[in-house]
Amino acid sequence: MATLTGQSELEKAMRLRPGAAPDVLIEDLAEQLSILGEVEPPVDLRLLASLQSIDDVRETVSSHSGCLINEGGRLRIELCAMDSPERQSFTIGHEICHTLLPGFMMKQNFRCTPLRATPRRDGTLNIEWLADVGASELLLPRRFVGPTFASHPYGWDTIEQVKSDYGASLEATARRAVRLTPQPAFFVRLEFATSRQNAAPALRVKSAACSSALDVFIPPNKSIPRDHPIFRASEGEYVDELADMRSLRLPGKFLVSARPYPYNNDEGDTVMRVLVLGIKAPTARSVRL
Ligand SMILES: [Zn+2]
Repeated sequence: MATLTGQSELEKAMRLRPGAAPDVLIEDLAEQLSILGEVEPPVDLRLLASLQSIDDVRETVSSHSGCLINEGGRLRIELCAMDSPERQSFTIGHEICHTLLPGFMMKQNFRCTPLRATPRRDGTLNIEWLADVGASELLLPRRFVGPTFASHPYGWDTIEQVKSDYGASLEATARRAVRLTPQPAFFVRLEFATSRQNAAPALRVKSAACSSALDVFIPPNKSIPRDHPIFRASEGEYVDELADMRSLRLPGKFLVSARPYPYNNDEGDTVMRVLVLGIKAPTARSVRL
């Protein structure tokens, strides 16, 4: 399926379906690859890599999570040995998707840190973000997780179960749930950080994602006021309530579920991380937090 000459699979798909958004197309291409591989959860990413002529996946010491290397037509993925197995799986998916995206034929290697990119607002292709979208479909195929998300409560209990079943990270699973939710919904990751204007640490946005029904840009580094309900999650509380989210430029009130998920950073320090899911005006009885 991979080709080292000519147009990328995404460019071909864009020609065939000019009205379709690139992220929809890369998700479809990833799904086709996944169906071709006849994978079932937990998905065998190395098998899917081999279908794209990537015959070597190895660990290495690197400051990047992953690298796709093309040596005279032989393709190899290098993974950061320090990353968790969940993160490595997502990275394999990300690198596989580079073989479907523009630029693959020209560049000798890609050095990637997945889940950092956001969609561009100017209509140009953000290849790193599109590789993330495709990786999500490879790791968490919608034909399997879609029915699970639709039939279970929208919240962290469901996310944790799916994460465990699919060998995905919490954040990748939360982003997948948001993307597959037909209602206005969002995910944010918050950590304490300073800003240029304010030297005192505040709980700030590190990354964010919105469902297609919520066309809003949540600014990176935007802070959460200390009196906002989701701030309490940074003090150890599970917060499940209706909250006004205009502090993140989201329109009005959402049912939010905020949980503390501290982690150890590269220096071995424990860092408080708050993950938040929010959904607007749930209508189905099954949708509860
Ligand atoms: Zn990349």
